Amino acid sequence: MTDFGKLNITKHKYCLHNPYSDSLRDVRWLIKRKEIIERDGEKCVICKSTEKLQVHHRQYYFYSRLNQYAKPWDYPEDVLITLCERCHKEGHKLYTIPVINI
Ligand SMILES: [Zn+2]
Ligand SMILES: [Zn+2]
Repeated sequence: MTDFGKLNITKHKYCLHNPYSDSLRDVRWLIKRKEIIERDGEKCVICKSTEKLQVHHRQYYFYSRLNQYAKPWDYPEDVLITLCERCHKEGHKLYTIPVINI
């Protein structure tokens, strides 16, 4: 794969938080999600709300050799943060999530 090809991947539109995605109902994600929310004191790290908490990925990993994204639970804890639904939606409007090729 050329460098140019790798650059294209970072423009790929993809959201791990799609509620219709089966992977977010996977028990491995539910356990990881609970750990992160507990670590962050069960509140949004931006506005401190305790309503409708979600766990956000600050980076996505793409396994070049497997040609697929990492599973939502397959991330180190420092990549994951707790956000309320509102801050989460706002964040995704403002920022593009970087994709790291592994
Ligand atoms: Zn918030
Ligand atoms: Zn997110």
